Amino acid sequence: MKIIFLGAPGAGKGTQSDIVSETYGIPAISTGAIIREAIAEGTEMGLAARRYTEAGELVPDAVVIGIIKERLSKEDCKNGFILDGFPRTTVQAQALDDMGVEIDLVISIEVSDQDIVKRMSGRRVCAACGASYHTVYKPSKAGEYCEKCGNELSIRKDDKPEIVLERLSVYHALTEPLKDYYKNKGKCVEVIGQEVLADTTALVREQLVKAFGR
Ligand code: AMP
Repeated sequence: MKIIFLGAPGAGKGTQSDIVSETYGIPAISTGAIIREAIAEGTEMGLAARRYTEAGELVPDAVVIGIIKERLSKEDCKNGFILDGFPRTTVQAQALDDMGVEIDLVISIEVSDQDIVKRMSGRRVCAACGASYHTVYKPSKAGEYCEKCGNELSIRKDDKPEIVLERLSVYHALTEPLKDYYKNKGKCVEVIGQEVLADTTALVREQLVKAFGR
């Protein structure tokens, strides 16, 4: 099961990836989370990536392709995986093809720009364990603290409104064309992101059952 979630920032890729990961027992791989971790740890890659992420721009292809190559070579990926936030450019999609990775299904979660901007204002993350929440749609059971590890929740620096607009424009220019890239291979389906999280999950599940029979 090799699955890609496409969609604008804040469309719900991370949330759906985590749910699919639990349902099927395959890892959800988020390049954004790997980069944020590297930034928090102050590694060389993190230091180099920071100025791009904080400006809402993409980290150079070579860097993220390197991250993905290393991650996919790990033992836990042998039965499949879910990619959340990769590929984000045609060059990255081609790199995946060149690595011999055969993607089974691409699910694009569709949410209008207007709704994305509205949703982003409620997004919260746990900087310690990477868990993500939303004040309205997916509140933490521990209020302003992470229900998984107890750390205080925060707002991602790149979720500030002006950076969100930049990320949206990068999405439309560089990432959205990947829908056609995978449609041409007969692999891409679209799911309309719903107001209620469980409704989106049900639509995603429908597509997974159609593709994998389970
Ligand atoms: P995300 O958590 O997926 O929204 O990613 C946060 C930020 O990390 C993005 O705005 C980019 O700066 C960087 N990033 C994550 N994935 C990629 C990727 N595949 N290509 C380039 N930059 C990425």
